[in-house]
Amino acid sequence: MSPLAGLPLGIAVIGATGSVGTAVLDVCRAHPDRFPVVALAASRNVSRMAALAAEFKPPFLAMSDPGAARELALHVPATTKVLSGLESLEKLVLLPETGHAVFASSGTSAIPALISSLKCGKTVSLANKESLVIAGPWVMPLVQGREQLRPLDSEHNAVWQCLAGERKGSVREIVLTASGGPFRKLDLPSLEKVTPAMALCHPIWNMGSKITIDSATLMNKGLEILEAMHLFGLPADRIRALVHPQSLVHGMVRFCDGSMKWLLSSPNMRIPAAVCLGYPERVELEGIPTDLAPLESLVFSFEEPDLRRFPCLALAIEAARSGGAAPAILVGADEIAVSAFLREKIPFLGIPRLIEEVLASFDETSPQSPEEAIAIMEWARRKAVEILGESDKSRRSTF
Ligand code: NDP
Ligand code: MG
Repeated sequence: MSPLAGLPLGIAVIGATGSVGTAVLDVCRAHPDRFPVVALAASRNVSRMAALAAEFKPPFLAMSDPGAARELALHVPATTKVLSGLESLEKLVLLPETGHAVFASSGTSAIPALISSLKCGKTVSLANKESLVIAGPWVMPLVQGREQLRPLDSEHNAVWQCLAGERKGSVREIVLTASGGPFRKLDLPSLEKVTPAMALCHPIWNMGSKITIDSATLMNKGLEILEAMHLFGLPADRIRALVHPQSLVHGMVRFCDGSMKWLLSSPNMRIPAAVCLGYPERVELEGIPTDLAPLESLVFSFEEPDLRRFPCLALAIEAARSGGAAPAILVGADEIAVSAFLREKIPFLGIPRLIEEVLASFDETSPQSPEEAIAIMEWARRKAVEILGESDKSRRSTF
């Protein structure tokens, strides 16, 4: 008999060792009866996974890196099943014990598992934005009702909350806010001299390195516009990004009658994680400042993002408008560009220059399947590596 017999269906967290995975597991830790953890997956971080396994005692673990899986198996009880390889992500989410799959991994490896979990009727919380940017046209038709796919990215979670009980036809515009990152006020010559250490210091959020650099270039907001198009079924020209340095308002919806809904909270990923796990009920969270100060003293400022100083956002908006292969190319080229910047191979503004060059060198047709979209993204990675003059082997993955 399963050790979890009698408990509600469990949570599987893909990307358990990362920044979002940690926020999700914090919520599970606070409510173990409500959110039993049945499966955890990561890529290579054996020591963190071993610690999580000792704490949550899930019956299933997976490491997409086979060597890491072998090592992890030495550190956990023999009764814990350790799966290995990329296919193991799909196996974890399809376990009968998994009721709710949380996609908090970076990169694109979890796309097949995301598609399978939706097809099999699992509840899904999605933080990973690359999946929808690349495979949105094939993922979204699988979603059965607003409760099945829950956006964990904070801005999309905010918009999703604002849309509860509303009709899609009433929505005129969606606004995603951006903190503006660490270089909101820097001029172009100063942006040219930004170092990885400077770019890794985000003023508000503590996140993985890839998304932190994407936040500094505003590519993150561009990817989020693409993500929102798929999630909420709106064209690019009805989704706006606004810089809001206080990061208290995460998303807004403007309706046809002029009403607007804003979602405010302190910037903490445990909040959208709790919303996703508990929906439609609210979950008690400790340690979140709710007394945000009397409303009259709150400062809210909003400004248009400067596309000249942040060309990555302009490239992403253009990709959102043109569609086809552009979003997949954007994701692949950006991954290599950010990795090259972190290894000090290119300057900060070299990131949009490299992406633009890769976008300009693709002249084939639109992808017709998620597999084709992934193949185009992989082509964009190879093209970016070629432009950089590095061999695939010499390129050490930074993520
Ligand atoms: P991190 O770099 O902190 O963590 C990445 C996680 O993904 C790690 O657990 C890593 O495992 C795991 N992982 C990477 N590749 C694989 C793979 N092939 N198979 C299994 N697991 C894998 O990233 P973040 O938590 O910052 O971001 C995760 C995703 O969520 C990204 O798509 C990001 O854009 C999105 N997001 C992040 C937010 C944030 O606040 N951080 C907010 C909103 C969205 P290992 O440690 O073993 O390498
Ligand atoms: Mg976000």
